[in-house]
This record gives sequence, C-alpha cells and structure tokens, in this order.
Amino acid sequence: MCVDMLLLDSQATMMPATVNVNRRAAHQTNLEAGSVYSLTGFEVTSCNQDYRLSDSSLLIRFSDSTTFEKITEPTVPIPIESFRFRNYSEMLGLANSNNQLPDLIGEITAVKSTVTDPPLDKNRVNATIKMDNDTSVTMTLFDAQAVKIHNQLEQMSVDPRVFVATSVNPRMVGGRLFFNATAGTHIHFDKETVAGESLFSRLSEQGTGRAQVARLLRSFAKVETLSISELNDFVLNASSQDIDFICTGKVTGIKLDKGWCYISCARCFRKLHRSGSSLTCLSCNNTDAVGILRYRVEMSVADETGEGLFVAFEGVVAKLHNMRAHEAANLLPGDGVNPEESDVPQFVLDMEGNTYMFQVKVGPYNFTANNHSFTITRILGEGDPEPQPAFVDDGGADDNGDDNNDV
Ligand SMILES: [Zn+2]
Repeated sequence: MCVDMLLLDSQATMMPATVNVNRRAAHQTNLEAGSVYSLTGFEVTSCNQDYRLSDSSLLIRFSDSTTFEKITEPTVPIPIESFRFRNYSEMLGLANSNNQLPDLIGEITAVKSTVTDPPLDKNRVNATIKMDNDTSVTMTLFDAQAVKIHNQLEQMSVDPRVFVATSVNPRMVGGRLFFNATAGTHIHFDKETVAGESLFSRLSEQGTGRAQVARLLRSFAKVETLSISELNDFVLNASSQDIDFICTGKVTGIKLDKGWCYISCARCFRKLHRSGSSLTCLSCNNTDAVGILRYRVEMSVADETGEGLFVAFEGVVAKLHNMRAHEAANLLPGDGVNPEESDVPQFVLDMEGNTYMFQVKVGPYNFTANNHSFTITRILGEGDPEPQPAFVDDGGADDNGDDNNDV
C-alpha cells in the first residue's frame, strides 16, 4: 500500500503527497506527522479528482531522488494546522458526490457504541454532532477507528464538547446527512486544535453546556424517528447495517399466508421442521427437538407517506396482549388441531386499524434483494420512556431473543 499524507507550506497551502509501496521503506523515517522538512527532488503530478483531501489539484510524489532535510527551527513560520471545514449546507452539496473528503467540526452531544471489552470483529461508533446551524448529524466510525475513539472517550475524565473529524465522507440517507469515517480520518477533541479551542470557548461563553461529566459514551444516542417511506428508502439507499428506528403507523392488514405462530426450537427459537412425529431443528442439528409455540405476526403498517411490512414475534405480541402464544392456542376451539393451522386469535386480528408507535430493527436481511419485513422490537405505549437502545446492540428491548427474522 502507498502512504498518503498532506503537506502544509508557509503560505498555508495544503497539498497531498504520496509515496508508493516500493519507496516506503526508504522514506519511512521522514514521514513523521508534525515535523517540518525542506524537500528537493520530488515529482509533481495532477491528483485524482475523487475523494480529494485538499483543494489542490496537484499531487507531490516522493521518488528515489527525493531528499528530506528536517528543519527544527524554520526561518519562515509554518502554520501548525489547516482544515477544510464545511458548514451544513455546503456538506449537503457535497453529499454522495464522492469527490471531496472535507473536515467536520461541531459539538458532540451523544455517542452510541457497539465496542465491547474485549472488542469483537465488527465495531461501530455513532457520534451525534451538532453542526453550525444546530442541526444534528451522525458521524460513524468503523472497526479499529471505532475501538480507538471508544477507548479515548472511556479514559477521559471529563466529556469532550468539541469534535473535529478530518477527511469525512458525507452521505445523504433517508433525507438526513450522515458522515462516514475514511482511512484518512483523524479525530481531535476540545482544545487539541486551535480551531477546536475557538469553538470550545464559544460554547463555554454561551453557557449552554451539559454537566461537565455527562458520561457521554453511555448517554446513548436517541433512536431516530422515520416515516415509513423514509424507512423503505433507508434500506434501498444505505449500506447494510444494524440500526433501530421509531415509526408510527396504522396496522392496515394482518398477513396470514404464513399463519400467526410457528413451532420454534426451545433452544434457538428457529422454526422446527416436522418429520413424522418428531421435530427437527436444522440450526441445532437436533432431530428430536423440543418445540415451543411462538407468535410470528406479519402486518402491513401505513402512515401518510407509505406502507411497509412489519413482523412481530413472541416477546412483542405477548407483552402487548399479556398472553403467550401457547396460552392463546389453548383457548382456541378444536383440541388437537395443529396450532400452526388453527384459527387466528381474535385479539391478533383486532390489531388491524390500530395505530402504534413501533420501534423496528433494521438488519442486514433488510438490505437483501427480497427485502424482508422489518422486525418490531417494541411497541411503545403512552407514557413509556423515550426508547434507549441497549449499550451493545442486542436487538433492543425484546428480551426473549426471538427477534430473528429468519424463521
Ligand atoms: Zn434449535
């Protein structure tokens, strides 16, 4: 891999530079961030027009004849930092264009992290950043960068307020602005930069500060509310991910082509298969599995913007109606009838026409071509507290582990 960097001269001109993999070893000792060098014998070429890190259209390439002379006390002062901050409306203009990787500055107001101790393979940190016009945007860091910022935040005794992220990729998803970290993203907090220090003073003067130790990392990001058309658009346009949303809609129909319940494996909650008188769990590789009846109620839900297919499992339906699926089956007429083929309990049918506030989980299966239904992880009643996702994404408040959408 080549190494890309940004150079800043005494005129505050920023220009990208690169050294390819074959010359990397030769120049490695001179690639020290923050140091000042006098350079000779380099090549100048035009730079790639995509994912640009600076406003320069030129690129410096270090060759075999490039010499570096380290300057400890430059005769001409060199600025110590240079950012390409863009305000909210400029970011909107850059979103999804892939031709600029600008810098982001704002107030960090919430952080949601999936990083565990020890970290697992896949990690994500979502930081909510309040930009210049008081609009909140979401900045996402992945994997090693997510673990790094998570650990930094955990070790800080006072929560940071100012958040600076370099070389971010602005994206529009579902009508909202998101930023993804790139390989070139560096994060600076509070007074670590001059630009950050100046925003920090402004925020302090405004006196709208949170408590100084607000335990930012654990004050989970609020679950965002989307309309149903935004939810449908999200799975078409966003990259595959696990995320919860709140949607309010009216149940316009109970879908009965797959029944209202299924016989699940007592161990893994997946659907069991009948062979003669025994039940097989393919997932547990058990040909004599113990079955439990569980709800699986698929419904169409609509608001004024559109219609979506939602599905609720045992935890959600049992909580709503205060009755487990096997109890409901016992109340139905027709003793000995296969419960999966029995009539639908009236209280399930009666959900049609009701309006609910749903918390739904969007998972990787929602991004596949056949676009599975959205799993309801919770139905919020009046007076319920604001939904707070668990610190580790575990499917929300459904504590029954039955929110798999792959039965
Ligand atoms: Zn099983």
